[in-house]
Amino acid sequence: MTGIYKHKENQPVVWFHRQKSKSNQWCLYCGSFLGEELKIESNKEHLIAREFVPKGSLSDKCFNFIFRACSVCNNKKANIERHISSTTIINSSARSVSQEIDQLALNKAKKDFHPDNPGKTVIESCGEIKVNYGNIMQFGYVFPPQIKNNYIKELALRHIQGIYSLITTKNYEESRLLPPKQLWFFDAFNEQDWGNPEILEVIERTKEWPCFCNIVTANGFFKIIMKRSCDDGWFWALEWNKYLRVIGGISLEDKPQQLFSNLPDLDWKDRGMQGNDKIRKRLEIPLNSIDELFNGTVSNEKNT
Ligand SMILES: [Zn+2]
Repeated sequence: MTGIYKHKENQPVVWFHRQKSKSNQWCLYCGSFLGEELKIESNKEHLIAREFVPKGSLSDKCFNFIFRACSVCNNKKANIERHISSTTIINSSARSVSQEIDQLALNKAKKDFHPDNPGKTVIESCGEIKVNYGNIMQFGYVFPPQIKNNYIKELALRHIQGIYSLITTKNYEESRLLPPKQLWFFDAFNEQDWGNPEILEVIERTKEWPCFCNIVTANGFFKIIMKRSCDDGWFWALEWNKYLRVIGGISLEDKPQQLFSNLPDLDWKDRGMQGNDKIRKRLEIPLNSIDELFNGTVSNEKNT
């Protein structure tokens, strides 16, 4: 069985109630107390925003996690989600298998302004890097709309905080929280690079770790897996809109994990200078073997 530790599959888990006293008492993201007696504004938060994945793919029969979050965290996350959603879907190969998704991708990318390019939408944010080799030669690389790097980390943190609270909490009025400093962000890889030796080695190392959450929801447009070893903390992986995989860990002692040390080198090559910046490139390696990143069986008995 796959799924989520101590919870049923294929339905949302709801901690939210209109009354504050019957909801979770702390914002799962920043840890603010949300109780009645304080004036902190809070509202309903969907861990996976409906708008984050293609329209209609996240039905009421899908897993989601609904709880109370402070309005500040909720609004900040919504902004990040909009950006990650438009930039992942526009780059996703899912566009080539469905006209509807292709159209949706274009609509989103035409409407959403790119935070790194003031006044320009995502679709207008394709770019070109001009690289100089000495004083003689110049080459240009054209690249698709890029995803804002710190937004990837921010959203991964929020998704992992939510699931961590869900699977480690016994009674949600006293929910467990994951402090941001314990989250270890390793890297993010786009679809053309899911077979690189770093990822394959991480998969190999975590193969036997007990699995506490393995969710594929929204027609496969959202995936998350979390595993925990007895002595090296947690491993987690996310996949967004069939395009971006983000991986990392949770280190209970606030130190880098063994899991991510001494990984195979990726073949970076220096490619000259752009202004004062060194440009380096490497070949991306698509996945040519069986996809094992989201393999793992959650056993509710074994893990109690
Ligand atoms: Zn908050």
